[in-house]
Amino acid sequence: MNFYDSERISDLLKPHGYQLENNDEDADLIVLNTCHIREKAVEKTYSELGRIRDKIKLRKEKTGKKSIVAVAGCVAQAQGKEIMKRSPWVDIVVGPQSYQNLPELISKVDPINNNKHINIEFPTIPKFDHLDIDINKRNSSAFLTIQEGCDKFCTFCVVPYTRGAEYSRPITAILEEANKLVEAGAKEITLLGQNVNAWNAVGKDKKTWGLGRLIQELSKIKELKFIRYTTSHPLDIDIELIETHRDIAKLMPYLHLPVQSGSDKILKMMNRKHTAKEYIKVIEKVRDYNPQIAISGDFIIGFPGETDKDHKATLDLIREINYSQAYSFKYSPRPGTPAVVFFDHVDKHIKTERLHEVQDLLRSQQMQFNKKFINSTLNVLVLKYGKKNKQYLGRTPFNQSIYFRSNSNNLIGSTVDITVTDAFQNSLTGIIKSNKNI
Ligand code: SAH
Ligand code: SF4
Repeated sequence: MNFYDSERISDLLKPHGYQLENNDEDADLIVLNTCHIREKAVEKTYSELGRIRDKIKLRKEKTGKKSIVAVAGCVAQAQGKEIMKRSPWVDIVVGPQSYQNLPELISKVDPINNNKHINIEFPTIPKFDHLDIDINKRNSSAFLTIQEGCDKFCTFCVVPYTRGAEYSRPITAILEEANKLVEAGAKEITLLGQNVNAWNAVGKDKKTWGLGRLIQELSKIKELKFIRYTTSHPLDIDIELIETHRDIAKLMPYLHLPVQSGSDKILKMMNRKHTAKEYIKVIEKVRDYNPQIAISGDFIIGFPGETDKDHKATLDLIREINYSQAYSFKYSPRPGTPAVVFFDHVDKHIKTERLHEVQDLLRSQQMQFNKKFINSTLNVLVLKYGKKNKQYLGRTPFNQSIYFRSNSNNLIGSTVDITVTDAFQNSLTGIIKSNKNI
């Protein structure tokens, strides 16, 4: 989502004369877009701000030039004025719900009088209403935020406090942005939301649409070839979305569905509002409708009170689901969340050991999943050049990275059939199936 927000910030600033600069040392304006989901984000932000002061701001000042520094995103939201106190060279602090105000804030920066600006409210008029702007050229794969915020209040999570209450964008705005993205070069769109499958809005038929119905509508855009979405919550998956995975070929066979733990006791303490069994049932149903779908997930290891028995329950759940790939993180206490006061902390060595065990199991499942594809042919979206000569990097429908070679120099953005020749932990390699033209 931060990647999407950064792209929108650059779209927003373009009409004001700004363009993206590859080398930040030459930049007139630096927007540091920050994430607050796990610890160290705050310290990372301050150390990066120190680098920006030394390498950019002070260095430019010596040559009589000015640069503006803005901190955006969820660390900005959480830290607010503290940022100006600890890093007085920062000119603007702007939260994730108010970055539409950046052009105005930038125009007010007066480097001589050192005016500082902070804008971290959750505005009642959603920012998207102010983002009806042109879109810069996009890669073949683009993001589109359709839903933001969260009302679920899992006890470990900062999202409800930094991104605010759940909000779904209206259908017309989403369709308009999707069309603009396709015109700007996107062949694939990933719909984004903290709980993307909680998205709902009233459709032209006056009925409430859910994510499945929205995807069906988006699939009518001719030049849009691949649709994905992330991240989903197990409680918000409805039958229409599951049917859409069966019926709409443009919706990729990949579902990222975090569960966090396999222990009902821990799930309860996390306020996840579902049991391990209920999660497994959801996956079974999805697989009933689309047997080849790849399942991914998120796990938090070492939540307060997690015993060996709870940890084993997580390993059992992973074995039962058999993931194509998944993310796992050590529990990280977040200021302001209910779990910070849970006292029964897991010893840090035990946490590390458990994390390794979970990651070893997930890695072996990923390797097994990838190997299944050797000798099969996949329809691949070509994303960019690889590091080697004549090499391209693409993405398979199952969200795997795949490398292949071609003499053609204009494949980016096209779809090609690739026969998989080898499988690795994090990628596949292959050859173009028919090389009549390419
Ligand atoms: N809405 C999604 C998750 C969004 S946050 C869901 O409910 O599943 C993305 C991931 O960050 C989470 O799935 C979780 O695994 C991880 N995460 C969030 N807070 C965390 C914390 N305090 N410590 C460790 N990992 C955390
Ligand atoms: Fe955070 Fe997801 Fe829970 Fe919402 S549902 S509080 S985003 S982990």
